[in-house]
Amino acid sequence: MQLKLTYQRRKTHPVEVGNICLGSDYPIRVQTMANTSTNDIDASVEQARRCIEAGAELLRYTTQGMREVESLREIHEQVLTSVPLVADVHFQADVADAAAQVVEKVRINPGNYIDPARKFKHIDYSNTEYRQELQRLRERFTRLLDICREHHTAIRLGVNHGSLSDRIMSRYGDTPAGMVESVMEFLRVAEDEHFPNIVISIKASNTRVMVDTVRLLVREMKHEKMDYPLHLGVTEAGEGEDGRIKSAVGIGALLADGYGDTIRVSLSEAPENEIPVARDLVDYFADDESPRYDGSVVAEVLDNIGGNAEVRYSSYESDWELFCLQAAAECGRLLWDYKATELTLVNPNFSESKLNFLSKDILQAARVRMYKTEYISCPGCGRTLFDLEKTIHEVKEATRHLEGLKIGIMGCIVNGPGEMADADYGYVGAGRERVSLYRGKECVLKNIPQEEAVEQLLKLIEQDKQ
Ligand code: SF4
Repeated sequence: MQLKLTYQRRKTHPVEVGNICLGSDYPIRVQTMANTSTNDIDASVEQARRCIEAGAELLRYTTQGMREVESLREIHEQVLTSVPLVADVHFQADVADAAAQVVEKVRINPGNYIDPARKFKHIDYSNTEYRQELQRLRERFTRLLDICREHHTAIRLGVNHGSLSDRIMSRYGDTPAGMVESVMEFLRVAEDEHFPNIVISIKASNTRVMVDTVRLLVREMKHEKMDYPLHLGVTEAGEGEDGRIKSAVGIGALLADGYGDTIRVSLSEAPENEIPVARDLVDYFADDESPRYDGSVVAEVLDNIGGNAEVRYSSYESDWELFCLQAAAECGRLLWDYKATELTLVNPNFSESKLNFLSKDILQAARVRMYKTEYISCPGCGRTLFDLEKTIHEVKEATRHLEGLKIGIMGCIVNGPGEMADADYGYVGAGRERVSLYRGKECVLKNIPQEEAVEQLLKLIEQDKQ
């Protein structure tokens, strides 16, 4: 069966972020996040210039406390362009209030906005306690809405798989329903307060979880007559070709659905590298002149002898990097939606073995089959405690033979353990040149010197095998 490749954007209301607008009446915006320390003003401004030159339309900065809010004020003054800045705030509602008076948009995480750091313990809430918690959320969030209204500041509600509050976990577990409800609780307050300037994201490093959850969120919003714009991204996607393919599988599936008003491709690389990847993805789906619509791309679903469907994707794209992105963006969704387990890529410009390797990478990025070690590495930000690219390289060199294992490499202890989600083992920055090692969510070696960490990680994996 040959599939008709169409594109119809989901209708969303406009959200003003400084002097740009997000929403279905506007182009899909591409954005990135700085990985400098926010307090290093010169480095942050320099990096902002490189990102803007690459085409970034929004720039986000980690904002741990009031000192970073003041630094953002300076960065804002120096980045004399039309690109709005976004403060990324976790755990401290007061910092979100202050940042909302300085930059054009504030990202808060519903999992930790009023809740303390997760304890990964199951806590039972009675119905009364649960209602009281919701009331506390309402009172605190309304204060932020008032500040944002006064200063014309937008908000992103950014949920990440693995960083839900203990309260949501107690009712829903770490599930798509839990992630969606954690957003809906905030949106109901915003609706009551008539505050529409909100964008939503739900991210996961598992592309399937991310896509299923965003689709569920859209259904829930529609059910409650809401049309908030969406920010799409696969979190902790990693670096290099694997990171690009994983991002394309997740973001592409949702762009093909017509979802997404802004996207960020999170790579464990310099942030300016993310922009061309994001632009290529947007253009593939949303540009009328994309090869997707001129008949040169053919997507088919075939029944094979075993009864499983096979997806076949054919294209004449002659640029290998573009072909990888486009095939990944199209095929992950088709594999899931047609319950297919085989993927054949056809392109006369490339060898069969190259195409076979790519099809395996796409199957793995879609978590349909595992062929090699899976890496879940954060993109780095102002909290990163080591040279991320060098560390990822070292961990990969030592562990690439461990087919099927999922290894998290995270820059900080604050968000790392939660956000490496379903990793089997985690290598997490615990302090300057200090690392903590995790087995699943359990910290098994705390604060060890970084030069010993790779060896200790291998020892741990070996011990567990016995
Ligand atoms: S895990 Fe920590 S260092 Fe990595 S991007 Fe998230 S907050 Fe930044």
